[in-house]
Amino acid sequence: MALIEPIRRLTVATLNQGKLDELIALLNGLPIELASLRSLGNAVEVDETGSTFAENAVLKASGYARITSTFTLADDSGLEVAALGGRPGVLSARYGGADSGFDRKMAMILAELAGSGSEDRRARFVCSMAIADPAGNIVHTAEGVCTGIIAAEPLGKGGFGYDPIFIPEGHDRTFGQLSPADKHQISHRARALAEIIPFLRDNSAL
Ligand code: IMP
Repeated sequence: MALIEPIRRLTVATLNQGKLDELIALLNGLPIELASLRSLGNAVEVDETGSTFAENAVLKASGYARITSTFTLADDSGLEVAALGGRPGVLSARYGGADSGFDRKMAMILAELAGSGSEDRRARFVCSMAIADPAGNIVHTAEGVCTGIIAAEPLGKGGFGYDPIFIPEGHDRTFGQLSPADKHQISHRARALAEIIPFLRDNSAL
């Protein structure tokens, strides 16, 4: 039973190239035309003022859906480090300043962890997703989590963001060292999308 008008075109609401590449790979095969925010240029940006991943996913999905008048999928995600009280969390993209690179952000986290005196290296990636209809109403939400530990040092050049310092549970290599296919088997993003894909399929025009 279709509760909403058929989804023919879906805007993927991110300007983060690493995230976009993963979302496009994971959504490959859906009978829906994917559009990225890049076609909008830099003119508009929806502020991430929420205090949780879920709030920010809803803000971005709804905001960009209204701007583009298309069904819009937003992903708000980040890394939570247990011994740092969950930091960087929703501030993952802006930790240490939006302009500081990930080498610097990862070095900050490793230094803070060393300075905490804690032996606890547990961490998790969290991904909240929301889909809004062209009027900006939220029609579906999902969340995925991937647990693991923080590595002693950044390793590997794959993935993006904090991948080189995150060793997912059940592995002895970082996301930066794993292949994209291996990351897609277990990642927070793939887990959130596993809930979203049936919804998109059920509501597609085919
Ligand atoms: P957002 O655009 O506010 O959701 O920013 C998410 C930030 O979280 C990214 O810029 C990365 O810093 C981090 N992040 C989210 N997912 C991943 C991932 O799969 N690997 C590495 N870093 C990630």
